[in-house]
Amino acid sequence: MLFETGLAARTGIAPLMNQELLEKVLRCPRLPSLPTIAIEVIELCRQQDINIRQIATTISNDPGLTTKILKTVNSSFYGLSSSVSTISHALVILGLNSVKTLALGFSLLGGMKEGHEDDDLITFWQRSLYSAVGARAIAQHMNLVQHEEAFLGGLLQDLGVLAMLETLGDEYMELLRESGTDHHRLWELEREKLDLDHTVVGGELAEHWKLPNILHTPIRYHEEPDEAPEALQPLVQSVCLGTRAADAFLVDSAEVSQAFFEYADEQLNIEHADAEALLATIAEATDEMTTLFDIDNHGARSVEDILAAANETLLQLTLESQQNASQLEKKNEQLQEQVTRDSLTGAANRGKFNEFMAEQFANASRETQPLSIVFFDADKFKGVNDTHGHQAGDKVLVAISKIVMDACPENGLVARYGGEEFAVILPNCDRRDAARLAESIRKTVEAQTIDIGDDMALNITISLGVATFDGSRFFSRPEQLIEAADKAVYAAKESGRNCVRIFTPRAA
Ligand code: GH3
Ligand code: MG
Ligand code: MG
Repeated sequence: MLFETGLAARTGIAPLMNQELLEKVLRCPRLPSLPTIAIEVIELCRQQDINIRQIATTISNDPGLTTKILKTVNSSFYGLSSSVSTISHALVILGLNSVKTLALGFSLLGGMKEGHEDDDLITFWQRSLYSAVGARAIAQHMNLVQHEEAFLGGLLQDLGVLAMLETLGDEYMELLRESGTDHHRLWELEREKLDLDHTVVGGELAEHWKLPNILHTPIRYHEEPDEAPEALQPLVQSVCLGTRAADAFLVDSAEVSQAFFEYADEQLNIEHADAEALLATIAEATDEMTTLFDIDNHGARSVEDILAAANETLLQLTLESQQNASQLEKKNEQLQEQVTRDSLTGAANRGKFNEFMAEQFANASRETQPLSIVFFDADKFKGVNDTHGHQAGDKVLVAISKIVMDACPENGLVARYGGEEFAVILPNCDRRDAARLAESIRKTVEAQTIDIGDDMALNITISLGVATFDGSRFFSRPEQLIEAADKAVYAAKESGRNCVRIFTPRAA
C-alpha cells in the first residue's frame, strides 16, 4: 500500500464504503499529482516560524505561477487601489493567507489539469472555475474571512472525480454521462453503483497531500454541507452556492437557475436582489479569470438568460399552484355533491331537501310566488322485496327516481325523502301545473316495465300527493307544507293507490 487511508480509522463512514476500491483509486499511478511548488508552499506554511521571505522567493522562482498570481490580484475581482508588481508586495498588501492560497490554487490546478484537458472535460473545468469565483464572491458577501479558501474549495472540490475517472476509466465515464449536468445525481450514482463517492476520494487525496484542513473540508463535504464541522459550515455553504451559480451559468434549465436563488434565500438568507448582483459579479470576474486559468469559457449563459429562466419557473410555479387550486375546488365540489346526494338513486338526500325547501319557502314568501311539492310513495313495495329480493327492490327505486328526475323542471329538485318515499320541490309552480306534472309522472311509472335482472321485469305504481303554497297565510312554515303533501299521499293510498291527491287548505 502506498499510504494509509485516514478513513479506515474514522467510525461511521468506513462500513458504508468500498474500502478496496478507495485504496485502488488512491494507489492509481495516473492520479493528479501534487506539483513540487505546491509541496514546498505547503511545507513552508506548516513550519512554526513562517518565513515570509522564503515563501516569496519560492513562489517567485516559478515565473509562470508568479505571473498568474500577480494578474489575479491585479484583476478587478480584487479591487485593489494600486497595482501590485511583486510577490513580496502582494504578501504585504493581501497577507500570507491569500497569496499562499492562490499559489496552491494555481499549482494544484496545473497538476490536476495535466492529462485532463480533453473535450469531455471542458464543462468540468468551466464548472470548477465558475464555482471558485462564485464561492469567493459569496464568502465575501457573507463577510467570511476565508475568501481565498472558498475560491480554492470551489476550484478543487471535484478532485475526486478526476481520480475516479483515472482509475475506473469507461466504467466511471458511463456514470458521468448518465448524470449529465446533474452533479448531485453523479454523487448518488457513485454511491449506488460503486459504494464510493468522489467527495470521499477527493477528501482522502487532499489529506494525503497534507492540504490544510480548511482546504480539505469543502472537498469532502460539498455534497452534504450539514455534515461538515460546524465552524466550517459557512465556508462549505459558500462553495455549494458557488456551485449552484456555476450550474446556472452552464446548464440551460429554468429549474437550475431557480435553484441558485432558492439555495441563496433558504440556506444563506441572501435576498433575490443581492443574489442577482452576485451573479453579475461572478460573470464578470469569471470572464477575467478564464485566460489566467487557461480554461475555455465558451457557451456560458448570460446573467439575463439566468434571470429570465428563473422567472419562468416562478411563473410556472404560480400557474401550477393556480391549477392545483382549481383542481381542489373541483374536488370540493365533487365532495359537496357526494354529501348532498343519495348514493343509490342519485336524487338529492334528505339534508339537501331540507336546505332547498327552506330556501324556496323563504323565496316564495318574499316574492309572492307559488311553491308546490309533490310527494310520492311506491305502492306495495314491501311485496317487491319479499318476492324478488332487496336488490330487485333497489333497481325499482333507481328506475322510478330516474323517471321523476327526467320529468322535473330545471329549477326543481327531486329528493329521496325516506325509504321508498320521494319528494319533488317545484319553485314558481302553481297547484294546477304541479297536479299535471304529478299525473304525468304517475302515468309514466305505471307504463314503464322495469328490468330487475335474471330476465325478469315488473311493473310498479306510485301514489302521489300535491301541496302548494300560494302566498295565503295557511302555510307559515315549510314543515306545514310537507305535512300537507304527506297527508295527500295518505289520501291517495286510501283511495286505492296509483293516483294523485291534492291537498286543499280549508279555513278552520
Ligand atoms: P304501501 O303501498 O302501503 O306503501 O305498501 P308498502 O309495502 O310500500 O309499504 P311499507 O312502508 O310497509 O313498505 C316499504 C318497504 O320499502 C319496506 C322497506 O323494506 C322497503 N325499503 C325501504 N327502503 C328501501 C331500499 O332502499 N331498498 C329496498 N329494496 N327496499 C327498501
Ligand atoms: Mg310504499
Ligand atoms: Mg312506505
